[in-house]
Amino acid sequence: MKIKTNNIINEQYLASLIKDRDKPSLFEEEKVLKKALELKGLEPAEAAVLLNITDPSGLARLYSTANSIKNLIYGSRLVLFAPLYISNYCSNNCLYCGYRRDNTAIERKCLSIDAIKREVEIILSWGHKRILMLMGEHPGRCSFDYFLEAIQAAYSVKDSRGNSIRRINVEVPPLSDEEFGRLSGAGIGTYTVFQESYHRPTYEKMHPSGEKSDYDRRLETMSRALENGLNDVGIGALLGLYGWRFEMLALLEHARYLDSRHGVGPHTISVPRIEPASGAPLSENIPYPVSDEDFKKMVAVLRCSVPYTGIILSTREPAGLRQEVFELGVSQISAGSRTAPGGYGKSSPDNAGSGQFSLNDTRSVGEVIKSVIAQGYLPSFCTGCYRLGRVGEDFMDLAKPGQIKLHCLPNALTTLKEYLVDYADEETKQLGEKLIKESLSNIPLQGRREKTREYLKEIENGKRDLYF
Ligand code: SF4
Repeated sequence: MKIKTNNIINEQYLASLIKDRDKPSLFEEEKVLKKALELKGLEPAEAAVLLNITDPSGLARLYSTANSIKNLIYGSRLVLFAPLYISNYCSNNCLYCGYRRDNTAIERKCLSIDAIKREVEIILSWGHKRILMLMGEHPGRCSFDYFLEAIQAAYSVKDSRGNSIRRINVEVPPLSDEEFGRLSGAGIGTYTVFQESYHRPTYEKMHPSGEKSDYDRRLETMSRALENGLNDVGIGALLGLYGWRFEMLALLEHARYLDSRHGVGPHTISVPRIEPASGAPLSENIPYPVSDEDFKKMVAVLRCSVPYTGIILSTREPAGLRQEVFELGVSQISAGSRTAPGGYGKSSPDNAGSGQFSLNDTRSVGEVIKSVIAQGYLPSFCTGCYRLGRVGEDFMDLAKPGQIKLHCLPNALTTLKEYLVDYADEETKQLGEKLIKESLSNIPLQGRREKTREYLKEIENGKRDLYF
């Protein structure tokens, strides 16, 4: 069914909200932050009030509210994943992207099924259990059937300990209704497509040709995905193409639209900032650069506005800033990423020549985990919800009132334990065991706490894949 996309994003209305940049009064600010703590989300006009906070004490209150909301919904866990790019062929010409059709400097690859399996072996050897599989839009070179085959191939790989990938999320260009039906049968987790920019004139400028140049087709994708069998969808905007305030409020509008129309808001929201990409001149000269301070504020306002949704932070951001943003509501992070097809087989994370963009956090998975633990967060490889069918509305029913953390915490402990036993160095083992011991007492239900203790012992004795 054709969707009226003007009903999703009302540009005039959003523009009117961000026109007024007056600093909110303390009364206004506190009223909105108090409402945010009720975990029911915010209206765009309320989110716009928070966007206008500039004074250090106001920002401190905003950040601490965002941090509390994340802890109330998800607890202290940070779920880790690795992106897996299987093809960089693309028939689109997005001005900011290294995969763009007119970029002749890039080495094009569509990985063979064997090459995909080799990449998965490496990802597994680092301890990951979740991947995000991606490919460019070029049905002539890499078909949808190939993508489905790649998913099954990735699931089939087992490492020497018998571990395998337990959840594959996907990010592929908009599909037909029939293809969505087939994708839903392929055992995927979340289906993600970024709108890139919600501002129509900007979108049209940035996507001059190819299938992707159709703004409406892209914006209605998530509704079609949900109507054709998929349970969980992820949305995102590429920050830097247009004003970040507009994009943030538009993400909120999109989330609210999906929730009201389908009873399921986005499972995740991603907020990558443009990074330089070879052969994409616009990425070197960003039209609306987003400062670190604005980026932090945007993440915090997003967390206050859509409390139940996972917020994803990628390795585009440098390690130091990532650590700061963990405190503001992020709930999922990539680690050890490569953004070029075949990149995991290379010794360095440098994507020169075939990556979609450059990376700023090039630490290994082990290093990221060690620093996440040192910061007091629980690294998690959990895939429990997807495995137990807690998806779509069922997931939302648990996430919205903050019940999901009753599953997240024990699952973070069991999956961290597996990581420590199977992959960690001595120092991480010690740090991790200490954190597990301390965190056990945070499981509120005694029965669940005892069962988690039992699972931890079983994992020590060689059992794997125990979850709630
Ligand atoms: S319990 Fe569900 S929401 Fe929590 S980390 Fe696991 S899969 Fe994610």
